[in-house]
Amino acid sequence: MAPRKLAAGNWKMNGDLAAMDQIDAMLNSAEDASCDVLICPPALLIHPMVARIGAGDLLVGGQDCHAEAKGAHTGDISAEQLRDAGASHIILGHSERRADHAETDAQIRAKAAAAHRAGLVAIICLGETEAQRDGGQTLDVIAAQLDGSLPEGATAANTVIAYEPVWAIGTGRTPSTDQIAEVHALLRARLSDRLATGADVTLLYGGSVKASNAAEIFALPHVDGALVGGASLKAADFLPIIEALD
Ligand code: PGA
Repeated sequence: MAPRKLAAGNWKMNGDLAAMDQIDAMLNSAEDASCDVLICPPALLIHPMVARIGAGDLLVGGQDCHAEAKGAHTGDISAEQLRDAGASHIILGHSERRADHAETDAQIRAKAAAAHRAGLVAIICLGETEAQRDGGQTLDVIAAQLDGSLPEGATAANTVIAYEPVWAIGTGRTPSTDQIAEVHALLRARLSDRLATGADVTLLYGGSVKASNAAEIFALPHVDGALVGGASLKAADFLPIIEALD
């Protein structure tokens, strides 16, 4: 088995019911593509998006979940509730959650275990800050985040890892292809050591992926797709990225 290819869109806190119009073209593209195509909209839009897609091939996911299945946690959403709304994946540990909500590796690990408990795929995000990159700490930071946030029971079927350098997100800057390849080789080696199915875990790159740089990034070893923010909001921007992966 080879890693499944995945083009994943992270809408963050963008989009509304009118944005569902973008979904039809993305759905057509997903039907034609051999890779998986996933959109993670704000939680409120998951259900209408799933309804719009119907029996189609476009996957829908969440952007975070609580570690528990239910209870007194005002404002939170469980993995089970995301599944109930039709989600198949959950993005966890995005650097914006780590920064805005002080999420730790241990919390992300508990949330990933919750995603697995609910039968969903956890997309665990890792990435160094610019200061860490400049300080030569990138590989140590990534290794520590991976070790700290990967739960027991992770397999290639229930876990995706996304390498997203914090300084590349929403900035238009990307690492060199050598820098991306170096981190992805580390991830593959560490996952292969730790998991029986480590060679088959889908590894995404994320951070300023767009139509003009996607093909070059997807040509790198151990890059099995992308987690795309800004360029996933409009079908006209996202479709060429799906095509570059396919
Ligand atoms: P970007 O965001 O593609 O807008 O840089 C990527 C992400 O945060 O997942």
